[in-house]
Amino acid sequence: MYRIVHKETVAPQVDAMIVDAPYIARHHQAGNFVVLRIHEKGERIPLTIADSDKKEGTITLLFQKIGKTTEELGTLKAGQSIMDIAGPLGHATPIEIYGHCVLVGGGIGSATLFPILRALKARKNKITVILGARTQDLLVWEDRFREYADTVLLTTDDGSSGRKGLVTEALKEVLDSAKVKIVIAVGPIRMMQAVSEQTRPYKVRTLVSLNPVMVEGTGMCGACRVSVSGKTRFACIEGPEFDGHEVDFQELASRLGFYRSEEAQAMEAFRKKCKGKCRSKGVK
Ligand code: NAD
Repeated sequence: MYRIVHKETVAPQVDAMIVDAPYIARHHQAGNFVVLRIHEKGERIPLTIADSDKKEGTITLLFQKIGKTTEELGTLKAGQSIMDIAGPLGHATPIEIYGHCVLVGGGIGSATLFPILRALKARKNKITVILGARTQDLLVWEDRFREYADTVLLTTDDGSSGRKGLVTEALKEVLDSAKVKIVIAVGPIRMMQAVSEQTRPYKVRTLVSLNPVMVEGTGMCGACRVSVSGKTRFACIEGPEFDGHEVDFQELASRLGFYRSEEAQAMEAFRKKCKGKCRSKGVK
């Protein structure tokens, strides 16, 4: 059992949880994720570790309540527990002395860039962070990013904060004006694809953190397979970060939509059962 130490809402439909998980916190490196199961009958879902505190023995998870499991996770409160959390999983982000790095975050995906920012800054890199969201309320952790980044650029689709437009527009300006060594992007698939297309003509190394369907997270089930450079790769054990210029985003997007109707049915059934005040059975 993994006890929830703190829980808060950080944006509409987005919650952050600090969870007691000393082993995971001790071994967490930027880029790692966990696979959790709320209770015995729960679905396994992957979540990137958004922060960890090795001294306190805690990890921070951010999640958008977009499916049955994330909605159920959002019903848990501080003091309650999650049954299983496996991790840290996946390869860590390669943290080197690069020079100028650009981190591009889309929506809630932005928060998972935070440990990468901190690790790159510890190696004395110069870092520009571009955070994009549909609207101001959905920009998460701006203050934390400002603490470590050299420059933070904000974009919103509706112009309610920062510049009006997409992250790729801000990225183009940075690429045109500076010698960028690496771009790391986390967010919706179409955004990571657009970022990769943007950096391609500049020949700038581009890493994207992929979020395919995952089941057990140890390379056995094959649910998370993605095509990279024409070869099948398992995101859980060979990723989750890959060269954005080599990823087949079209296939990834179509595989992610595979279970959409089942996901919608599960969500509807859960909401009916809850009538707005559901507590997970089997959770203390
Ligand atoms: P969203 O659709 O609101 O997009 C956020 C921002 O991304 C937009 O404001 C825009 O600036 C940019 N963007 C979106 N589509 C674009 C395009 N086609 N071209 C250029 N820029 C574009 O995002 P959301 O609803 O907050 O969703 C967040 C996504 O992040 C989810 O899909 C989630 O699965 C993903 N995510 C991934 C990870 C990971 O580790 N890979 C972690 C957390 C979240």
